[in-house]
Amino acid sequence: MSDLRELYQDVILEHSKAPRNYRELPLANHKAEGYNPLCGDHFTLYVDLDGDRVRDISFQGSGCAISKASASMLTQMVKGKTKAEAQELFDKFLQLVKGEGNGNQAELGKLAVFSGVCEFPVRVKCATLVWHTLRAALEGKQQAVSTE
Ligand code: ZN
Repeated sequence: MSDLRELYQDVILEHSKAPRNYRELPLANHKAEGYNPLCGDHFTLYVDLDGDRVRDISFQGSGCAISKASASMLTQMVKGKTKAEAQELFDKFLQLVKGEGNGNQAELGKLAVFSGVCEFPVRVKCATLVWHTLRAALEGKQQAVSTE
């Protein structure tokens, strides 16, 4: 188990150091900003929706390793999915980081690396910030998302 935990930490660190899809998306037709004042995480998420499907997605901003890795993996996981599929993933991810999931980690794929976050309630906000931001972007909300 400790090996697994180390592996998970490695994956999170690797994503935070070299975040995927870290760029502006000039053609994005949806965009939202998210803040986590408790930690100082602040990201902008760009989403290019083709009808109901995420054609492209990217993010920019700064934050702790967990928030950045979460944003990086979110963009990888959500690209190509429909809004409903993204929402379903969000629900499962929330359960995972709150420690409420009951063994459906397989469906979360690489997002399972965040399972340890449930032991650190403060970090749950870091991990979920970008997901809340995604929902705001998909709903076309103009107001910035805040975890507080
Ligand atoms: Zn954070």
